[in-house]
Amino acid sequence: MQRPIFDALVIGAGIVGAACADELARSGLHVGICEREIIGGGATAAGMGHLAIMDDSEEQFALTRYSQSLWDVLATELPPTAEYLRCGALWIAADADEMAEVDRKYRFYNARGVSASVLDGKQLAETEPNLRSGLAGGLLVPGDCVCYPPCVAGHLVTKAVSHGAVLFESANVAEILSSGVRLQDGTAVASKLVVLATGAWAGTLVPGLVIKPRKGHLVITDRYPGFVHHQLIELGYLKSAHSTQADSVAFNIQPRATGQILIGSSRQFGDSGTAVEQAILAKMLLRAAEYMPALPRLSAIRVWTGLRAATPDKLPLIGPCPDYPNVYLATGHEGLGISTSLATARLLTDQVLNRPSEIPFEPYLPERNYALHAQSVH
Ligand SMILES: Cc1cc2nc3c(=O)[nH]c(=O)nc-3n(C[C@H](O)[C@H](O)[C@H](O)COP(=O)(O)OP(=O)(O)OC[C@H]3O[C@@H](n4cnc5c(N)ncnc54)[C@H](O)[C@@H]3O)c2cc1C
Repeated sequence: MQRPIFDALVIGAGIVGAACADELARSGLHVGICEREIIGGGATAAGMGHLAIMDDSEEQFALTRYSQSLWDVLATELPPTAEYLRCGALWIAADADEMAEVDRKYRFYNARGVSASVLDGKQLAETEPNLRSGLAGGLLVPGDCVCYPPCVAGHLVTKAVSHGAVLFESANVAEILSSGVRLQDGTAVASKLVVLATGAWAGTLVPGLVIKPRKGHLVITDRYPGFVHHQLIELGYLKSAHSTQADSVAFNIQPRATGQILIGSSRQFGDSGTAVEQAILAKMLLRAAEYMPALPRLSAIRVWTGLRAATPDKLPLIGPCPDYPNVYLATGHEGLGISTSLATARLLTDQVLNRPSEIPFEPYLPERNYALHAQSVH
């Protein structure tokens, strides 16, 4: 029997590939999905699952806010295993300088219609009693949510399959061809278009992309319902997330629907593999304990790491790949790929189908990343 020729073949079933497969299949395309390991088993399994609206740049804001509106719709159909929780986020200011950042953030969100409110030190202590005393205040963003990303990825793949997509499991793509892909075992899978959604491994199949792995550690505790109520992030996190060279840690903690507590986070550059590193892990937990002194008394049950796919300008690559006429990229989401997965899928599908998009897709086009590559080799 002749193999089908797909309209689009998605490589990688992390949350970004899963979202793209779902969106493309629901839009009427015949879709294939190649995943070499486990659905949602890459960075998606490692991610914290904070669905955030961020304000580092107008482009980042536009993508995260658009995506949150799509998450609001998806949330109505997610199974309980997706652990979707609208817990809100609280950005914590330790001192007057960070309080000035709270005010700036408040004005930014307020001017763009995102609900947020400023808490003083007393209100912060009442809202999260396990924080250390003496903190200056914080910014409450009630619309932020959390989820369990691998289960959402599984849900999206199942939906794609229900719309006719074909899932190839244990399908390790070795090469992209003009007619589709060739798997490691030699099998050719024919497709008109290929969507590369392989996260931190994107450069393996498309050399020339300027994407670096940025390792992160997370710890999960046993169940302590009520210990923390919001996603809590120290404002120092912004310095950590903005650093493009130095390894860093920041207090970032999340209540799970199970009553467990997820503790982060660290950011490391360089090729240090995926092993847990005691030195940075200790630094991260010490930082967390500075903010929540009772944390060291809780029992941690698992530690893991994951690799974020970092681009130099901190924006993802969504759209046609300049070097390969039949390839679209959906990668480079760094620490926001869970949040922005749904908007990525929608903007990518808009481009594939040449239909109007709700927000401009130009800021995320991959050609800017290629320009950087050209600069670095000349
Ligand atoms: C510690 C940490 C905390 C984070 N916290 C958050 C957060 O709170 N909020 C947020 O929005 N984001 C967060 N992120 C970022 C987020 O996890 C990622 O941006 C997101 O998961 C990227 O998804 P992806 O589908 O692009 O990549 P991945 O999930 O890595 O998926 C890529 C898939 O491609 C497959 N693959 C690779 N090569 C091939 C091949 N040749 N053939 C077939 N399959 C292949 C892999 O097996 C993998 O399944 C965090 C990341 C880390 C590491």
